[in-house]
Amino acid sequence: MFDVIVIGAGSAGSTASKTLAEKGYSVLMIEKFEIPRYKSCSGQLIKKSIDLVQKYYGEPVPASAMCIPTKNRGMIFTDDKGRSFRFEQDGLNVWRSSLDKWLADKAALSGVEIRDITFAVSCEEKDDGVTVTLKSEQTYTEQARYVIDCEGVIGTLKRKLLNHNPKLIYTYQTYNQGSVDLDYQFFHAYLQPELSEYDAWFNVKDNQLVLGVSVKESRKAEHYYARFISYMEKTHNLRIEKQLKIDKWIMPWIRPGCNIDFGVGRVFFAGEIAGFLNPMGEGISAGMESGHCLAMALVKHFDNLEMIYSDYKNGTDALHNYMKRQWSFIAGMTDNFAEMRL
Ligand SMILES: Cc1cc2nc3c(=O)[nH]c(=O)nc-3n(C[C@H](O)[C@H](O)[C@H](O)COP(=O)(O)OP(=O)(O)OC[C@H]3O[C@@H](n4cnc5c(N)ncnc54)[C@H](O)[C@@H]3O)c2cc1C
Repeated sequence: MFDVIVIGAGSAGSTASKTLAEKGYSVLMIEKFEIPRYKSCSGQLIKKSIDLVQKYYGEPVPASAMCIPTKNRGMIFTDDKGRSFRFEQDGLNVWRSSLDKWLADKAALSGVEIRDITFAVSCEEKDDGVTVTLKSEQTYTEQARYVIDCEGVIGTLKRKLLNHNPKLIYTYQTYNQGSVDLDYQFFHAYLQPELSEYDAWFNVKDNQLVLGVSVKESRKAEHYYARFISYMEKTHNLRIEKQLKIDKWIMPWIRPGCNIDFGVGRVFFAGEIAGFLNPMGEGISAGMESGHCLAMALVKHFDNLEMIYSDYKNGTDALHNYMKRQWSFIAGMTDNFAEMRL
């Protein structure tokens, strides 16, 4: 019997696991892919993410996770009328697989048992604990007093527990060799409705040009992507010499009110699966912060479920309000997000 089983070795899972293990709890962290695992991500660490790595992990973001250009100087938004706004803030540019491996390694050093290539199939509350069914080469079960579900966007366990089918946003991005007349040290976001149903973006990773769009219906992704490329060619002199990779992914469709699911009984949710995600898909900081907050609520009230929920909700209130304000701010820039206006 573990004290806690954490599902998912992303920013939320590793932070929750490490925090608990450091306080002496026995923690098993499950990851379905082999670590380092691939995660579609622009890998932009805003200042808050950098500060949280230092705060929770006691060290700066490691050089091993960074890609070129290592420094990110902020975001340039183009609104639905084609006007550009520059928001300067020092950040970092990382490969997500490397950063998340480093976070998981730190959790392991704190005493977390990690099993990768292991899929959490389901979980069931029993007496004063939870039984989790796991699948690797064999199917077997493990028990814990609590489960922290940090599965990210797909959320097999959460779907089963809540019996729901969440609305999703589909992302389509490509990695390319080529050139474009834009500042590579900024993340560029485009909010014109003719270029995407959500947002479109450009950034650079190890000299590869990354161009992406997000849409509400997956079948429309390539159509919008083609429009975005043509816009970038005309407006910013984009020249693609060679397409290196196509990357399709999903992200939560954040709805008005930015609803958060904190958990069901002894199974808690943290990170993206709980609903924590800022505009332009900025979710690493929210993953770490919610994972840490939940872990601390468990440390404080391990035998009192009601108090764990109460602390977790209160502790993430500021994060939730920040998220609502950020979405409302973006809604002021384009009708694509009009429903998010406060
Ligand atoms: C295209 C794109 C670009 C983005 N760019 C940025 C960015 O630049 N900056 C930023 O801050 N955020 C960005 N995000 C958002 C960010 O990636 C997520 O919000 C963040 O990763 C959420 O962290 P998490 O720990 O909640 O989930 P994840 O990082 O997704 O981790 C969840 C883990 O759980 C594992 N898992 C899932 N189900 C199971 C299961 N049943 N059993 C075992 N393991 C399981 C998964 O394999 C995964 O490793 C981007 C997202 C997308 C899609």
